[in-house]
Amino acid sequence: MKKIFSSLLFSIFLSIFCITNAYSWGFYGHRVINRMAVYTLPPEMFGFYKAHIQYITENAVNPDRRRYAVEGEAPRHYLDMDIYGDSAWLKLPHRWKDAVEKYSEDTLMAYGIVPWTVEKFRWKLTNAMERGDAKAIIRLSADLGHYIGDSHVPLHSTENYNGQLSGQYGIHGFWESRLPELYALQYDFFVGKAQYVENTQERAWEAIIGSHIALDSVLRFEKQLTQQMGDDQKWSYETRGSTTQKLYSRPFSKAYHDMLNGQVERRMRQSIKTVGDFWLTCWVDAGQPDLNKLLLSDKEQEELDKEMKELEPSEGQSAPTLPQKPREHEGH
Ligand SMILES: [Zn+2]
Repeated sequence: MKKIFSSLLFSIFLSIFCITNAYSWGFYGHRVINRMAVYTLPPEMFGFYKAHIQYITENAVNPDRRRYAVEGEAPRHYLDMDIYGDSAWLKLPHRWKDAVEKYSEDTLMAYGIVPWTVEKFRWKLTNAMERGDAKAIIRLSADLGHYIGDSHVPLHSTENYNGQLSGQYGIHGFWESRLPELYALQYDFFVGKAQYVENTQERAWEAIIGSHIALDSVLRFEKQLTQQMGDDQKWSYETRGSTTQKLYSRPFSKAYHDMLNGQVERRMRQSIKTVGDFWLTCWVDAGQPDLNKLLLSDKEQEELDKEMKELEPSEGQSAPTLPQKPREHEGH
C-alpha cells in the first residue's frame, strides 16, 4: 500500500514536472535565441541592444511567465494547425481580419494565434522605436523574440502538443528543453547579419508552417526509438538539487538527437536569424532612430532591474550554462 501510495505521489510529482516544463523552447532555449539574435544586429543597433542584453536574455521567458496570469496570453504561443483539417491549414488566411471572417475570433483564440501575434508585436516594437521609448523597446524586443521562437517549435503547431494524443506524453519538454540543454553548447549560432524583411506577415507564417512540416519526424522518430530501445533505456532518474526527476535518458536523447539530424539546431538558428531580422526591420520602418541617444530614467532602470531579479534562479536551482555569444567562424 505504502509503495502504491509513494509511486502515486511520484507520478503526480512527475506530471507536475512535465506540465511546468511544457513551455515553449524551454526557458533555456528562449534565452539562447534572444541573446544570440543581438549579435546579428548592425553597429547602429548593437550598442543599445548589447547594453541591455542581460534583460533581453532573461526576459525572453516573460510571455510564458504571464501565460496563466494575463487573459488572452495563452493562445499567443501556438497555432494548432491540424485542427483545421488535413490540408486546410495551408489555406488559413494570413490576414487576421480575413481569418476572423472565415473562422470567427473565438475559434482562432481557441486554437492559437502565434503568427498574428508576431505581426502585432512587430507593429508594437516599430511604434516604440518611433516614439523613442527605450523601456518599451527593450521589453517588446524580448517579447517579440519569444513569440518568434515559439513559431519555430514543431510541437507548437499541433493539438497533440505534448504527445498526449499519441502515447508520447512529455515529448514537448524533451524536444525543446532537454535536447537544447544537452546539446546547444555544441551548436553553431553564427547565423550572419540581420536583414530587412519585406513581408513580415508572410515570414511569420513561414516559421509556423516550417514547424508543422517538421512535426512528423519529431513524433515518428520518438515512437520508433521507444520501440527499439524500450522503456528501460528510455528513462533515467537524475537528481537536481534536492529533487529526483524522471528524465529521458542520455543514450535515448542522443539517439533521438542523431535521428533528427540537426533539426533542433536548424530550428534554433532560424529562430535567431528571424528575431534579428525582425528587430532590424522594426528599426528601419521606424526611420532608423539613433538608439544610442535613448536613455532610461532612474525609475525605469529600477523597474527593469527589479524584473530581472525576479527571474534569477532560486537557491538550489542550477541553470544550465548559456552560450555567451556565437563562436566566430574562421575567416570572419
Ligand atoms: Zn511561449
